[in-house]
Amino acid sequence: MSRLLCVAAFAAALQPPPRAPEPPRIEKTANYKAAAEASARLAGELKAPPASRKTVAVVGGGLSGLACGKYLSDAGHEATVHEARDVLGGKWKAHRMSFAMRERPGEFTSFEFPEGVPAPLNMAAAILTNTEMLSLVDKIRMVPGLLPMLLEGQSFIDEQDELSVLQFMEKYGMPDTINEEIFIAMGKALDFIDPDKLSMTVVLTAMNRFINEADGSQTAFLDGNQPERVCAPMADRIRDAGATWKRTRPSRRSA
Ligand SMILES: Cc1cc2nc3c(=O)[nH]c(=O)nc-3n(C[C@H](O)[C@H](O)[C@H](O)COP(=O)(O)OP(=O)(O)OC[C@H]3O[C@@H](n4cnc5c(N)ncnc54)[C@H](O)[C@@H]3O)c2cc1C
Repeated sequence: MSRLLCVAAFAAALQPPPRAPEPPRIEKTANYKAAAEASARLAGELKAPPASRKTVAVVGGGLSGLACGKYLSDAGHEATVHEARDVLGGKWKAHRMSFAMRERPGEFTSFEFPEGVPAPLNMAAAILTNTEMLSLVDKIRMVPGLLPMLLEGQSFIDEQDELSVLQFMEKYGMPDTINEEIFIAMGKALDFIDPDKLSMTVVLTAMNRFINEADGSQTAFLDGNQPERVCAPMADRIRDAGATWKRTRPSRRSA
């Protein structure tokens, strides 16, 4: 009997984990429809006839490699995705928080959460090893605000709901750099609002969740919005080069 249980447990361990529930309206999204249409075409009219099916090695199990493996399989080929690391996902799969640096446009600085180090120690390591954004004094001044969160967890976090991010920073004497470089970007990303209006509970909950989710995705924060930071410089460059751009009515399709 116990041998039977062992075999059953071993078989269960080999099963892939159950799929997370899909958002109910996902099939109505444009991306889903486009991908489903591509898969249907590959599995239908473009399916390779048995004689011309290939064995394909795909190098890299990031999003491109996984998509490639899926579409090749849809088309009837035998694809093997080779991934050097022991996790799939590539760039996405790094326990890291990156921030655009205001003083060095185009450059990011990262907080690396070391593998195998449990929260909250991983956050302490990430803060201590960042040298580009935070000075030693900044790091020391962050301790009074972050230590209670790290020690008490969600109960401390919930109690901060009365404070905006800015009030929390003032209460715990945290340096202005943290607000300018980190919390403005986080506030905008999490709730589209500035730190003087955003509840500190929102930011701390996200941080606490992030430090505990070693299998979560990498997170990056830009230091501004896309129209200002991406589109405006491109438009300027176009104008400087002597070209123009203007807003027009939608052009009519030619026959
Ligand atoms: C924080 C963040 C947010 C992002 N947000 C967006 C977004 O909103 N929209 C968007 O379109 N894009 C976004 N991106 C970009 C997008 O995630 C990347 O463009 C995409 O993940 C790149 O996938 P990839 O498979 O091409 O490369 P990678 O993710 O770099 O994967 C390459 C894989 O190949 C493996 N590998 C390399 N060499 C070998 C080898 N010799 N043998 C075996 N394996 C090898 C690597 O280990 C890695 O797993 C974001 C990226 C980040 C980091």
